[in-house]
Amino acid sequence: MKKLIKKARNAIWPGVLILLYHRVAELSPDPQLLGVRPSRFLEHLEVCRKVADVISLRSLVKWLGRPRIRRPGIVITFDDGYSDNLHSAKPLMERLEIPATVFVSTGFIGNDRELWWDELERIFLGSQPLPEILSLEIDGVHREWRLAAQRGKQGNHLRASQEWNVLDRDDPSERHSIYRILCRTFGSLPEKERQRLMGKLRTWAGVGSSGRSTHRLLSGQEIADLAAGGLVEVGAHTVTHPVLSTLSEEEQRKEIRDSKSALENILGRGVGSFSYPFGLLHDYSADTVSIVKDAGFDCACANYPGVARPGADLFQLPRMVVRDWEGGEFERRLRDWFGM
Ligand SMILES: [Zn+2]
Repeated sequence: MKKLIKKARNAIWPGVLILLYHRVAELSPDPQLLGVRPSRFLEHLEVCRKVADVISLRSLVKWLGRPRIRRPGIVITFDDGYSDNLHSAKPLMERLEIPATVFVSTGFIGNDRELWWDELERIFLGSQPLPEILSLEIDGVHREWRLAAQRGKQGNHLRASQEWNVLDRDDPSERHSIYRILCRTFGSLPEKERQRLMGKLRTWAGVGSSGRSTHRLLSGQEIADLAAGGLVEVGAHTVTHPVLSTLSEEEQRKEIRDSKSALENILGRGVGSFSYPFGLLHDYSADTVSIVKDAGFDCACANYPGVARPGADLFQLPRMVVRDWEGGEFERRLRDWFGM
C-alpha cells in the first residue's frame, strides 16, 4: 500500500534531489570521504542527466511551485570552496552544460591555509615521524597521548592511512585515534581556541602553516572565474566554517553576513544562497535560520537526507551526500533515493 501511494505521488511530483559534493579530486588518504575522482564525477553527471532534469538551485524555488513536474529534478551543490571545484569540476559541468552551486567559506580567500580537518590529516596521517608524547589543554581539560608504540610500526601506519576513513570502526594506529578525537573536538571549539591548538600542534609536529597545493581553497580571482559564464552559482558558507549552533547570535550574524558581503564584493552582484557548515540538525538552530533569512538570502541548504517537494522549507533544504561511487552504484542510489 505504502509503495502504491509513493508511486502515485511520484507520478505527479517525483521530487528534487539536492546532491552534496565537496571535492572533485583523487585523494589518498581521504579520511573524511570528501573526494570524487574526476572520471567518476563525469559518470555521475551523465547518470544525473539520464535519470532527471538537472536544474540550478535558483530555479528550484520555481520548480517547487509547479503543480506537476514531468521528470524528477536534481540540483548539484558543493560545500567549502576547494579550488578543484573550478579546475576539475567546472570543465566537466561545462562539457555537459550542467549547472551547480558552490558554497564558499570566505576566511580562506587570499591565504594558503588549509581547512582544519585537512590540516589535522596532514599532521597525523602524513608520513613525517611525530614526537612521542602529545599533551594538549583542550577546553580546560588536560589530554595526553603516547605515540611511542607507533614508532616501530611507521610503515603500518602509512599503509593503513591510505585506505582508512572515519566511518571505519577501528583505528589502525594511535595517530588515527588522535586524528579522530581531534576532528570531533575541533568542530565545536571557538575559532580562536582552534587556531591556538592548531598552532601548538604545528610546533609539536615541526610543520609550517602553509597548506598543500592539493588542498587549496579558491582565491578571489578563482571565485570570479568559477561564476563567470553563469553556469555555476556561488553561495555563502560562513567565514570560518564554525558549528553555528555553538556561537552567540551576534557571532552567527557576523559569520553569515560577512561571508555574504565578501563574496558580493568579489562577484559584484548579490549572493542569494547559503549552506550551513556541517549542516546536521544540531549544527544550526532556529536562531540561525532567522539570521539567514534576515541577511537577505533566498534559500539555505542543510545536510540531512531527503527529497525536496512542494511545501519544503526553503531555508532548511535536505541534501544527499555523494561519495566516490562508480556510475552504476551512483545510479542505483539515485533511483533508490527517488523511490523509483
Ligand atoms: Zn562545509
